[in-house]
Order: sequence, then structure tokens, then C-alpha cells
Amino acid sequence: MQFVIEQQEPITVPVRTSPDTEVNEQSPKFPVHRIYCVGRNYGEHVKEMGGDTKEEPPVFFSKPASACVTFNQNVAYPQATKELHHEVELVVALKSGGKDISPDSAMDCVYGYGVGIDFTRRDLQALAKDKGRPWDVAKGFDQSAPISAILPASEVSQLSDAEISLKVNGEMRQQAQLSDMIWSVPEIICELSKFFELKPGDIIYTGTPSGVTAVIKGDRITASVAGIGSLDFKIV
Ligand code: MN
Repeated sequence: MQFVIEQQEPITVPVRTSPDTEVNEQSPKFPVHRIYCVGRNYGEHVKEMGGDTKEEPPVFFSKPASACVTFNQNVAYPQATKELHHEVELVVALKSGGKDISPDSAMDCVYGYGVGIDFTRRDLQALAKDKGRPWDVAKGFDQSAPISAILPASEVSQLSDAEISLKVNGEMRQQAQLSDMIWSVPEIICELSKFFELKPGDIIYTGTPSGVTAVIKGDRITASVAGIGSLDFKIV
């Protein structure tokens, strides 16, 4: 018996550069390195998902950087779901990183902030939770991470009391204060750096408040974190 390896033509793989991952409307543009996300970081959202904040601390997961959607581009309704949920979140963009970062020095790593949507195929996530499977197919799909321009931290006057909100077709669906977060921004950076050596360009979606609902083609999404940024796009 013989195995024949056929000589193939050289394959050209296109180099993927930044248009997917530049997030600032002004220069310098912010190049996204990795997307980390926090789940279960608002008590009311944990409850609406049927969880218990005492039994289940916040969790981490990730999305590919190519999932970013910038400049309010429309989002194509994804394949393989009948239940696409919006999750509005404060996004933290890092200018430096490290391992085992102390809470005291965590804020030194922050370049700035934006508002993002952690789109979730909720039906696939429910199946994953039920079967004890990873969340990747529910969370890490194409165009699952719309993000606003990043506002440098030096231009942010008040973060903790800021309102975070999301409307679908002008109707309020999610509305909370950033102070409702279970883990604060420095706590998130500290906890995440226990697992990963954080790098400049990493961005963190910090979890969503309650009010997540399904969207359909044609819906217009508007979202904001007061004083930080806003999003306005359609599902197509
Ligand atoms: Mn989320």
C-alpha cells in the first residue's frame, strides 16, 4: 500500500491587518490585541439568567479580536441561532499589562474606555450550559463585538456613577449604573491577570446589566455609557 503526497501549489494567505480592529475615531487608532469578557458581573443579570451571585462569582471568556465591529457599522444577523441577545457593556482598553497585577496598580494599565455589545447566541449558550460545554460558539462568532471609539482615561471625569443603557428601536431595554458591577474595573484587571499576562491592546468587556432581550433583522440598537461613548447601528 502506498501513500502519495501530491505537490500542491503554494498557498497565499492574506495578511489580516487592522481595519477590523481599529476602534478610535481619531488618531492614534487603538489596535485591539485580544478581547476578554466578564460574565455574571451584575447581580440583577445573574438573577435574570437563573443564577445565584453567592454561588457563582463572575467568569471570564474571550472572543477573537476579529469579532470587533467599529464605526457603527451594521451587524449581520448571525447564522446558527434563533435567539440573538444584546448585552451592553463598559469596555476597558489597556495600554500596558502584566501578570498578577495588584489592585493598586491596575488602573495604571488603562488607556481608556468605550461602550460595546457582547452579542450572544443565547440558545447555543443555554445548550452549552446544560451540557457543560464551552461557550465559544455562543460568544465568539463574527461581528459579535461592536465597539465605540475609545475615550482616553484622562478625558473621563466620573466613571463609577455613569449610567449604562441600551435601547432597541428607541425602547429602553437595559439601564443601570456602572457602580452596580460586582467586580470593579481594577478588580477585573487584577483577577484576569491571575490567568493571563495582559498586554497593551487587550480590551475587556466588563459584563452586562439585566434586561437582555432578543433582537431581529431590522432592529436599531442604540447604546451608551454616559460620558464615555455611544453606539448606533442596525441588525441587517
Ligand atoms: Mn456579556
